[in-house]
Amino acid sequence: MKYIDELKNISENPRAAFEGAIASGKKVVGVMPYFCPEELVYAAGMLPFGLWGAAIQANDSKRYFPAFICSILHTTLEMGIKGQLDDLSAIMIPICCDSLKGMGANWEYGVGNKVPVINVAYAQNRKIEAGVGFTASQFRKIRKQLEEIAGNEITDDALAKAVTVYNENRDAILCFSKAAATHPKEISAQTRSAVLKAGYFMDRAKHTEMLREITEELSALPASDEGYLKIVTTGILADMLGFLELIDKNNMVIADDQIAQESVGARTQTPVTEDPILGMAQRLSDIEGCSVLYDLGKFRGKQLVSLAQEAGAAGILFVLTKFCDPEEYDYVPVKRMTDAAGIPMLQVEIDQQMKNFAQAESALQAFAEMLRER
Ligand code: SF4
Repeated sequence: MKYIDELKNISENPRAAFEGAIASGKKVVGVMPYFCPEELVYAAGMLPFGLWGAAIQANDSKRYFPAFICSILHTTLEMGIKGQLDDLSAIMIPICCDSLKGMGANWEYGVGNKVPVINVAYAQNRKIEAGVGFTASQFRKIRKQLEEIAGNEITDDALAKAVTVYNENRDAILCFSKAAATHPKEISAQTRSAVLKAGYFMDRAKHTEMLREITEELSALPASDEGYLKIVTTGILADMLGFLELIDKNNMVIADDQIAQESVGARTQTPVTEDPILGMAQRLSDIEGCSVLYDLGKFRGKQLVSLAQEAGAAGILFVLTKFCDPEEYDYVPVKRMTDAAGIPMLQVEIDQQMKNFAQAESALQAFAEMLRER
């Protein structure tokens, strides 16, 4: 299928995409999760480059973070300390979980100021008017910092265009995910993940074009999901090959996801407003289904139940990123809600540095058998 191999290559080797952009003379800005105002980077003519950690061993980062901090932060800092991200023009670091709060300072100590940090603060009370105003004020500050780095102004016009590019990409992600859900023979869990993840390392307009093409091709094919067990995934990320292999091996298909790295951000468009910054701040107050954003009443659980019911899923996989406090806190209320709705949920703890998935393998196999027998 057209573009699949290309997207897999990008996803498996983001370094090549990074070096390619630098070689072409483009400035690249690192973007850490979650929900940074990437549109500002795009509108400045630079490439936003996702930094979601890597499947590497963390050693030097342990001088700055204790061992019980998630692998996203450890491995991203490790890459920085090793000089692998020296060509970044800046790194955007949000401060939306306790561990991320220490990332900026650790970056400055461990990496130095060759890659300046842009701190991204959001209002905790993100849904009230004052919260939206605060987030907008932070985005305006970041706009100025990015203008200095890019060496050019970020006009409202360029920003409005960037907002459109990102909104179209979000729509394309959801359409692809829906088409993939009925075509597991053509799009395995591993392929689905790679296709979605590649977007973090490339021009979003190009990613959209590729997603649309793949979705169109899939839509022209008959569904291939007969005999597959539909599941919905939830968590921060679920891109470890060993874990995805288990989903494929157990004939499961991801009917939908509530994964921060995949569809969570895609579900919420940026409203088109006269002042694009206000629209971007408003989007942040509208996003649902993520443990790092203040979620009074745990709407995440309600959303998860609806996603599973709408997708006709037999069960839910709670993909818990090891040492992630926000996810650990969410697990109990979310489990209560899925239990009340009668939807079985399995928690699987994963880590980017994991090599052995034997424990997850047995748990997933038993879960699949139990779901098939229901
Ligand atoms: S939310 Fe969890 S996985 Fe993400 S940076 Fe914070 S601790 Fe790590």
